[in-house]
Amino acid sequence: MASRKPSTRPSVRHPSHNHPLRGYKSQAEDEIICSGCDLDLIGAAFKCTKSECDYFLHKSCLELPRELRHKSHPNHPLTLLYSPPYVQSSYTCDACGEYGSGFTYNCSICQYDVHVGCVSMPETMKHDEHAHPLTLIYSSPLQKGRIFECDVCKETIPDHLWLYYCQKCDYGTHLHSCVAEEEEEPKRGGKGEGSGGNNVMRGGKSSENSELAAMLKAQREMERMQIALDLEMQRAKIDKKSRKHMLKMI
Ligand SMILES: [Zn+2]
Ligand SMILES: [Zn+2]
Ligand SMILES: [Zn+2]
Ligand SMILES: [Zn+2]
Ligand SMILES: [Zn+2]
Ligand SMILES: [Zn+2]
Repeated sequence: MASRKPSTRPSVRHPSHNHPLRGYKSQAEDEIICSGCDLDLIGAAFKCTKSECDYFLHKSCLELPRELRHKSHPNHPLTLLYSPPYVQSSYTCDACGEYGSGFTYNCSICQYDVHVGCVSMPETMKHDEHAHPLTLIYSSPLQKGRIFECDVCKETIPDHLWLYYCQKCDYGTHLHSCVAEEEEEPKRGGKGEGSGGNNVMRGGKSSENSELAAMLKAQREMERMQIALDLEMQRAKIDKKSRKHMLKMI
């Protein structure tokens, strides 16, 4: 008798898209890309209710704050835009140097753009091959004109991009693929607040800040689960992406 259960899942609206969205549980093998962050759609997500429409969003991307302040760009707030504000409908991320076609945290004054995934990278990172924790820095630690080489892949990291760095050893890596190791070990005893955490709004004052921090923390928690789930696939994807990107630049 229970053959025709009407769908009770409510749909939601998001200003990034004209049609209502509905909860969607993606599988790793779907190989879907989130229309917001341009990364693999794994875990809790939303899909456009129109069957002909390939619009997908991570739940975390649906909940991103419209505006935030970020240490990397202290003078202006960054505004979440749902599509790149440029004629070519893509942008180059000022954190990782890769291109983006979905959401961007943008400063319109400076034409500064950061992927939503890059904006939430933790301020410190532990790398398997390095004894000390690495700190996220927002430009080359070297004087102008000197070239910084990633200590993992040995490729150049352009001056203005973010990197993970140990000052003691002058050891640094690319923001993403070269440091994709254990991100913030789970802390024993307690829920690892505090240190290592999140660089967004550090020292900020409004309650909005802690809300955001909590949100990003939850997001990272989820990301960590996703990463644990499918680290290999993620890596392969990133590699593929950067290769594609390089090809594009040639
Ligand atoms: Zn996303
Ligand atoms: Zn749609
Ligand atoms: Zn980026
Ligand atoms: Zn600016
Ligand atoms: Zn590298
Ligand atoms: Zn070191």
